[in-house]
Amino acid sequence: MNIDIGKRLKLIEESIKDVPVPVVDLIAVQTKDPFKVLTATILSARTRDETTAAAAKRLFSRASNAGQLAGLSVKEIEKLIYPVGFFRNKAGYLARLPAALEPYNGRVPDTIEELITLPGVGRKTANLVLGAAFGKPAICVDTHVHRIMNIWGYVQTKTPLATEMALRDKLPRRHWIEVNSILVAFGQSICRPVSPLCGQCPASRVCPQNHKKSRKIKMQKNKTALKLMSWNVNGIRAIEKKGFIEQVKEFDADILGIQETKAQPDQLSEQLKNIDGYKAYWFSAEKKGYSGVALYCKKEPLKVYYGMNVEEFDAEGRVITAEYDDYFLVNAYFPNSGAKLKRLDFKLRFNREIHQYLDRLADQKAVVLCGDYNVAHTEIDLKNPKNNVKNAGFTPEERAWMDEFVEAGYLDTFRMFNQEPGHYTWWSYRFNARAKDVGWRIDYFCVDGASKKKVISSQILKEVMGSDHCPVQMEFDPNCS
Ligand code: SF4
Repeated sequence: MNIDIGKRLKLIEESIKDVPVPVVDLIAVQTKDPFKVLTATILSARTRDETTAAAAKRLFSRASNAGQLAGLSVKEIEKLIYPVGFFRNKAGYLARLPAALEPYNGRVPDTIEELITLPGVGRKTANLVLGAAFGKPAICVDTHVHRIMNIWGYVQTKTPLATEMALRDKLPRRHWIEVNSILVAFGQSICRPVSPLCGQCPASRVCPQNHKKSRKIKMQKNKTALKLMSWNVNGIRAIEKKGFIEQVKEFDADILGIQETKAQPDQLSEQLKNIDGYKAYWFSAEKKGYSGVALYCKKEPLKVYYGMNVEEFDAEGRVITAEYDDYFLVNAYFPNSGAKLKRLDFKLRFNREIHQYLDRLADQKAVVLCGDYNVAHTEIDLKNPKNNVKNAGFTPEERAWMDEFVEAGYLDTFRMFNQEPGHYTWWSYRFNARAKDVGWRIDYFCVDGASKKKVISSQILKEVMGSDHCPVQMEFDPNCS
């Protein structure tokens, strides 16, 4: 896509002039000290700017250079930097930093190759330090830069690293340093990953993903409403490298249901298992690297049920349920009918089983079923219905089950608010399908018929990247009747 990027960044910069300057930039301007910029950058990962600023101030009061830092124990550093995210890991990095700087006479090196040899320093940090501390041309690509450049179609990449490389080729050098601070401030304030404020965006007329329609769905202010989210991440370990943990914090959902984790619990990092403010529950397939579901819950459920008590489906880690006082949240990854529809029978058996399971739960209290149903219900739920009638996910048999499910009273909550075609949740990785918006709506939030009034809104968060699916979200008030 042809974009005058200089003009676009200028426009955006104007709209964020009242947004506070990112803490690392501020420290760079105030101190012009590479050591302080480097340590503040390490502290700032997955941490709010106010917390980073306070922790950096405490640390610098005791250690404003590598020599002084060497005099502090790990425990002392931990105490000084708490409560920044992952303070124990970061304290470990900082404790090892003086020794790592010895080959450079205690000074911070000024090349990316040298910087990434330091503890806790990856490409993102190294680029930020190069630009902010040394004024060298460097492009720091975090999730905001990666996401927004892809939304605009300036690059078409799947990972922040690929974005950095694409920008190195394409972005004029004079914008390399500024692009991070402009797009981070813009991504935090206007082009937010969830519910972007397109109405306030100076680029809205030219942006391919202007969310005018979704903004019309008013989020009602309701103190007891819950924000429930669901996302097929297509491999939790892969998406972790694309900023998943930061994304979960930005979602700020009460419950997030994940499908296709493709991991056993012992393959998960401590960070994934312990996201601040959440308790996580995992139900993995017996076969490694396959299927699997999980829940991140802010409030601890009364009980968590793993599977449906049916061996052939439970072995594939397909259903996990959280029970609360007033409702059940069922998170499911429906089977795919597969190439040549080899698993169609298996899927139809699963469909019948989960329907009965939901009916049993609905006899007790409200039921929410979120997840990847692996079926586009009607012709408006995919771009090319005619070409797909014999394909997995749009066969008459799969669609007939969804008809039955809806006729039995379950509500496809997205369709309670929106009857238009062209709203998709999954795009093939092939043929540039996402950029062309050739997609399918196969991820849903459904509720039992009696819970209709509890549904406040239902949305598709198309702008959130990281997987071949995007998340879906529902506001649900279990107290409404
Ligand atoms: S998605 Fe919305 S806020 Fe973001 S750049 Fe496009 S119009 Fe602006």
